[in-house]
Amino acid sequence: MLTGLQIAVIGGDARQLEVIRKLAELDARLSLIGFEQLDHVFSGVYKEKLSEINFSEVDAIILPVTGTNPEGQVDTIFSNEEVILTEDIILKTPAYCTIYSGISNPYLDNITKKANRKLVKLFERNDVAIYNSIPTVEGTIMMAIQHTEFTIHGSNVAVLGLGRVGMSVARAFHHLGAKVKVGARKTEHLARIAEMGLKPFHLNDLDIEVKDLDICINTVPHLIVNAAIIQKMPPHTLIIDLASKPGGTDFRYAEKRGIKALLAPSLPGIVAPKTAGQILGNVLTQLLEDDVLKRKEK
Ligand code: NAP
Repeated sequence: MLTGLQIAVIGGDARQLEVIRKLAELDARLSLIGFEQLDHVFSGVYKEKLSEINFSEVDAIILPVTGTNPEGQVDTIFSNEEVILTEDIILKTPAYCTIYSGISNPYLDNITKKANRKLVKLFERNDVAIYNSIPTVEGTIMMAIQHTEFTIHGSNVAVLGLGRVGMSVARAFHHLGAKVKVGARKTEHLARIAEMGLKPFHLNDLDIEVKDLDICINTVPHLIVNAAIIQKMPPHTLIIDLASKPGGTDFRYAEKRGIKALLAPSLPGIVAPKTAGQILGNVLTQLLEDDVLKRKEK
């Protein structure tokens, strides 16, 4: 239980509603900032303005998956209020206050570091990334269906990168009957790809491997699908780039060549906000409970 814990939830999309529901159920006191257009709130949950919060009593701050933008602004889709998280606000919190975010950026890293507060980046955790790969895969399948005239079954698909997302995507497309090959650079990854019954290739050979592709799914967060690679693809190839912004594709050149290339960020939040929110809610609950226990032991 989270009884007695004061948590400020600042901004966020539909995923945050699941987090709020879960933490409220566990009896935390929640101040919601950037949610004034939300109709229904649970008991123990209060819609407030940033200026109304007594941050000296806040045990934890929960930011949206994206954290802040490079200027400190927090996304608030349930509000017209502009919310900026500053170092001054964080300095008002008690020394033990923890800030939870999906990802971070130099601004957020900097203000939390200068204020000497712990910043937890949930998406850096393996468990969150692996659970999150499930709705990401479903979103990728949706995009492949929406943007092609052929079945996934029987099509030539390349997945670039065998990380948490790449492995799940490759396995799902394989089970849908696609002919899947996976590009990686580590020998252990190449071995794992072979073990999964898929065709491995080294990313150094990408230019050769793209010549027969119907769908190219990139998960490598570096410019890997560059102009020289796109130039070798058949004109009907669909590129779905899952890597975080700006992706790993030369979108300008793809457009010039008439190849459809789609940057597809935040698929879990689009195709399954409830599940994506539950993933975050479950891990946050665990982390907050651990935090409370540790403080009680001291
Ligand atoms: P990950 O586990 O770190 O996997 C990244 C993969 O890229 C690894 O196989 C890694 O191989 C490879 N890689 C990294 N840098 C490389 C380089 N310079 N050259 C060649 N290969 C390189 O990450 P993940 O959790 O799978 O996520 C992948 C990307 O998808 C991230 O950008 C993440 O933010 C994004 N993402 C997007 C969505 C969405 O909805 N679109 C959802 C979840 C995640 P090595 O081990 O050899 O470095």
